[in-house]
Amino acid sequence: MKRVIVIFTGGTISMKKNESNRSMPSMSGEDILKIIPGIDEAANVDCMDFSKISGQQMPPEKMFELSGVINKKIKNGGYDGIVVTHGTDSIEETAYLVDLTYNESKPVVFVGAMKISSDPGWDGAGNLIDAVKVAASDDARSRGVMLVMNKEIHVASQVTKTNTCSLNTFRSLDFGPIGYVDNGKPYFYYKYTKRQYIDTDKIDTKVDLIKTCCGMDDKMLKFCIDSGSHGIIIEGMGRGNIPPKMVRGVEYAIEKNVPVVLVSRCISGKVTDDYGDEGSGGELREKGVIFGDNLPGQKARIKLMAALGYTKNVAEIKKIFEENYY
Ligand code: ASP
Repeated sequence: MKRVIVIFTGGTISMKKNESNRSMPSMSGEDILKIIPGIDEAANVDCMDFSKISGQQMPPEKMFELSGVINKKIKNGGYDGIVVTHGTDSIEETAYLVDLTYNESKPVVFVGAMKISSDPGWDGAGNLIDAVKVAASDDARSRGVMLVMNKEIHVASQVTKTNTCSLNTFRSLDFGPIGYVDNGKPYFYYKYTKRQYIDTDKIDTKVDLIKTCCGMDDKMLKFCIDSGSHGIIIEGMGRGNIPPKMVRGVEYAIEKNVPVVLVSRCISGKVTDDYGDEGSGGELREKGVIFGDNLPGQKARIKLMAALGYTKNVAEIKKIFEENYY
């Protein structure tokens, strides 16, 4: 039988109601495994408690520490695969950081739940069993870090939470899931080929994210630079355009050698330099702005943290972001 370790970090999958009837992460890994009959038929399962926090409490430093634990367990633990439980609010960020810093072939699968275990129709049990099955599957090898929920298998770089409460919240809006778990068996339909590895032993968390809206000026950009930002992500409009009054702030960042990465506030699609008027992607590209493909802002931020951990050289960072871009 395959050996899988489940690393518990917290989130709704581990929650119970407190005295005020509010959900709180309370259960240990062992408590959770005990209420999931049949999980030991999916694999030989070990468990580890890494933390007991909600998604919004997960800082990037802890995500990177988790990546270190995962890499060690895979190299020295004798496991065939790893499952990580996580709060769904930020699961995509942690999964993506681990994906960018994981270069092994064994599967790493993130999983969560949208309901707590006392809710009717708890999704945690089924999701966790499916995740263990994917982690134990030979077909799941060399696919990087994945997220398994609601029967779907997604790659970490593409999946995003789209709805605050639906069981069907996780979507890969541009290309869809790479597979399904059907009747307890994982089926893969395609391989995501644009996965990236950043060989870094640290991250730089001083990266800020600014979302654009009509009429915005450069106040936030200037504030970020003046207060010590090492990198800025701008969620621009559409194909990657920003209000003209923000452009001066972009120039200010670039003058100070702070990398500025542009993505879109649209929920899918990549940014390009098609347009050439004031505030357009074309103008920004000429000024030295780096293009962040189809990543949402929160994931572009994670990538820039890893890239800045690897190098402070803006040209190299541009290469990391724009590899095979045009
Ligand atoms: N607020 C919760 C969290 O991210 C939601 C969840 O786990 O699904 O921890």
